[in-house]
Amino acid sequence: MLIKEEKFIKIKNIIGVLFLISIFLIAIQVASGAEITTYKWGSGGDVTKNNLIKKNIPNSQIVMDVIKAAKKGTPVIKFGDGDGPTTLIVAGVHGNELSSQVAAIRLINNLYKFEKEKPIKGTIYIIPFVAPKSTASNVRFFNVKNLNSVANNSGTLTNNIIKFAKNKKIEGVGDFHSTQPGGVPGKNFILGTDNPTIESAKMAKAISKLTGHPYKNEYLAAKSYPGALEDNLNLNGIPAVTCEVKSPHGKIASGSVLASYNQMKAFLKYSKNI
Ligand SMILES: [Zn+2]
Repeated sequence: MLIKEEKFIKIKNIIGVLFLISIFLIAIQVASGAEITTYKWGSGGDVTKNNLIKKNIPNSQIVMDVIKAAKKGTPVIKFGDGDGPTTLIVAGVHGNELSSQVAAIRLINNLYKFEKEKPIKGTIYIIPFVAPKSTASNVRFFNVKNLNSVANNSGTLTNNIIKFAKNKKIEGVGDFHSTQPGGVPGKNFILGTDNPTIESAKMAKAISKLTGHPYKNEYLAAKSYPGALEDNLNLNGIPAVTCEVKSPHGKIASGSVLASYNQMKAFLKYSKNI
């Protein structure tokens, strides 16, 4: 009997310790705020091999953790877990469009740094580098493919993002790019679509108002750009916009990171995450 009792006490103690550990782990998760997940899509690379990325990103623990995660695949950083809107910010569909990728990293750094002073509402997912491998070598394409023209093809990185967005029940997506001077559109610009997801058009108009950057809404998704990520998200019923800032490819024009950062903040403001 005594032995049995002792065993019982031991089991009780073990359960007690496990209970305390679990509370401790939950506390760590709440305190640290951000959750980093790596999707091993064959897209990994060391983005610090790109000198302009290395020079322009903050030197903090959260940023180091994201860089480390990107070596193995496409990193997704999640903030918040409460009631409210669930949104997704994407950068680096084109590996050599650096301004938006740096802006996404700065946004991650700031959301993490100021999470107590400025808690967010709902959930924000951020993909700062769609294809770290392309970003590392400062090239536009991923495995000789323009990721913004193959989002309608299963198995591509951009199609994986559509599946991810569906799976996470994302309610709005901002896809952030840079456009070179003399290119199309060649200036700070917001693009949306009227059909079939009118919310995309409303979002483009609102971000335009908040940033002062002009906007244009296409009549029908995927008509002009059949394989674009934004268009295919809209076709799948997930309202999305494309936001462009003016900067040469492979470089970072003065003011372009801030312009992209402001577009991201406008997107989050309109979505009521901040
Ligand atoms: Zn682009």
